[in-house]
Amino acid sequence: MRVVLMGPPGAGKGTQAEILAGVLGVPHISTGDIFRLNVSKGTPLGVEAKRYMDAGEYVPDGVTNAMVRDRLSHDDCRAGFLLDGYPRTVEQVGELAAMLRSASLSLDAVLELTVDIDEVVGRLVKRAAEQGRSDDTEDVIRRRLEVYFEQTAPLTSMYEKQGLLVRVDGLGSIEEVAGRIGAALAVGAD
Ligand code: ADP
Repeated sequence: MRVVLMGPPGAGKGTQAEILAGVLGVPHISTGDIFRLNVSKGTPLGVEAKRYMDAGEYVPDGVTNAMVRDRLSHDDCRAGFLLDGYPRTVEQVGELAAMLRSASLSLDAVLELTVDIDEVVGRLVKRAAEQGRSDDTEDVIRRRLEVYFEQTAPLTSMYEKQGLLVRVDGLGSIEEVAGRIGAALAVGAD
């Protein structure tokens, strides 16, 4: 299965993506994780990405698209993939469609985790205290949410028109949300 997972920062995408990728038996591809890995290794990609990430802005589409194109060309993606955090802009949506089209493939579903804004701000502030991610300061959190609602939330209507969008309530325990996702996609999470 080829699935895209969307939702605002703090919606629990990463956690649910891990679980769902396991259930589907496909690689979990998180653009945020790939960027962070490059930042920690100090690669040229990481140095470039960090400037944007630390400001709560999106890394430029050219950089992100090239990285995803490369990742999706790996053998482990042949059976499918779960994309977490990509696409996030209109241009990325077009680029992903082009990548799939050239391989005669298509998406099976776009899952949107919905959450209340006050809830996500609370979660992000808590995560900042626990993990100390450099883009989890209050100002940057606010900016990341703004960017999400300006640029990424509108993409869901594009996928809705294609009949691919599945909305799932992200509020509740990890198990509850995972159960809802499994049910919504009709895949057997127990
Ligand atoms: P969150 O969704 O909690 O903000 P992510 O780990 O998904 O966290 O992403 C962290 C940062 O990585 C983003 O704020 C952005 O700077 C960068 N990033 C991740 N995915 C993309 C993308 N598809 N396009 C541009 N930038 C991205």
